[in-house]
Amino acid sequence: MDREDVFQFMEENDVKFIRFQFTDISGIMKNIAINYSNLESALDGVLFDGYAVDGFSRSEESEMLLVPELDTLNIFPWRPQQGKVVRFICDVLSQDGTPFAGDPRYILKKMVAKAAAKGYMFLVEPECEFFLFHTDEHGLPTTQTHDTAGYFDLAPIDLGENARREVCLSLENMGFLVESSHHEVAAGQHEIDFRYDDALKTADNIETFRMVVKIIAQKHGLHATFMPKPLHNEAGSGMHINMSLVRGEQDVLADPNDELGLSKEGYYFIGGIMKHIRGLTALCNPLVNSYKRLVPGTEAPAYILWARKNRGPLIRVPYFKDGRARVELLSPDPACNPYLSLAALLGAGMEGIEKQITPPPEMKANIQDMSPRAIREAGIERLPATLGEALDALEQDALLREILGEHAFRSYLSTKRAEWDSYCETVHPWETGRYLSIY
Ligand code: GLU
Ligand code: MG
Ligand code: MG
Repeated sequence: MDREDVFQFMEENDVKFIRFQFTDISGIMKNIAINYSNLESALDGVLFDGYAVDGFSRSEESEMLLVPELDTLNIFPWRPQQGKVVRFICDVLSQDGTPFAGDPRYILKKMVAKAAAKGYMFLVEPECEFFLFHTDEHGLPTTQTHDTAGYFDLAPIDLGENARREVCLSLENMGFLVESSHHEVAAGQHEIDFRYDDALKTADNIETFRMVVKIIAQKHGLHATFMPKPLHNEAGSGMHINMSLVRGEQDVLADPNDELGLSKEGYYFIGGIMKHIRGLTALCNPLVNSYKRLVPGTEAPAYILWARKNRGPLIRVPYFKDGRARVELLSPDPACNPYLSLAALLGAGMEGIEKQITPPPEMKANIQDMSPRAIREAGIERLPATLGEALDALEQDALLREILGEHAFRSYLSTKRAEWDSYCETVHPWETGRYLSIY
């Protein structure tokens, strides 16, 4: 799409507002709305003050430029169709026109370009889970759910069905290939899976997906949350990441003659991810709350191991789909910044291939059936158990530091350290409930 196509599209579709979207260091989407009359100059870039954007502030200068990526043009199907609203996803530039080093999208673009220089294309398919909750009389989110359904249940007990249907239709209107959707294990929990694409498109799609789910839920009087573990003793929400690597026609991770269908590179790719998993966890599981999902004895992974199937591995090698080998990482959750997470996963997998990092053998036993002692004796390590532990690992990971670049690396660590410190210093209701009367 070029400038001329853009103007033709706007005229034909009666567009009145254009949202310029970008993402902060925490993966939260932001936007500025431009009136159509101002589009001509806006296409060259819109100045904004990055000072108040998480991870963007710099002491030298905070004025930055949003430059739209024209191919990301999309109509918002839920807005009035006379005087439509559209959006572009933007790159963030410094005033001198160079990419801003703290822009998460730029960090993924850089990593994708590095892989492309070696002939690789990274294909990613996410499986996004979320909860639909009631709002209270002030419109604020609660953790009350209005359905009692479970895994794969149908209406009438699946009361989120109408909202989920409208999410799927809106996504399709916006060009997504929605593959499937279903009710998840917990009451009020849902999953929608859309088709794989190259890493940058998938990261853009995840951001768009989260926006669409929240907006459509609100239209139905519900609150959608991607918080990883909103309810104690219920399933958490994960975002499994299915990864493939292709080089031209070649499916790099596949070898049909191998028992699991994986090539040597496939095993090395797993080796690379496992080597860096502790630091990766700080990116793929970014909240204090993320670690309440990654606990033993649940469907979410807690230990660093891989398996063909089994419940509870960190990495699974699913059967071929779409004719391609896939490696599925089960730890990420839908609160993560998809640009940073996918850049880091690609970098770790590629290092595995380049340095021929052999992963430990496949875990044949079911970890769910092993005692803590047997797990220890088998030398199986746990994933970081807290955000603080994961941040310590990230801080020591030279590869991830290089992938994020100095600016984003430091701002991510300081933003997240502040979050962790604030949590640690706070006295929580659990503590007063447990200790106040006894001590
Ligand atoms: N909700 C689970 C998790 O936290 C995943 C369930 C599934 O396998 O779909 O990862
Ligand atoms: Mg699921
Ligand atoms: Mg899965």
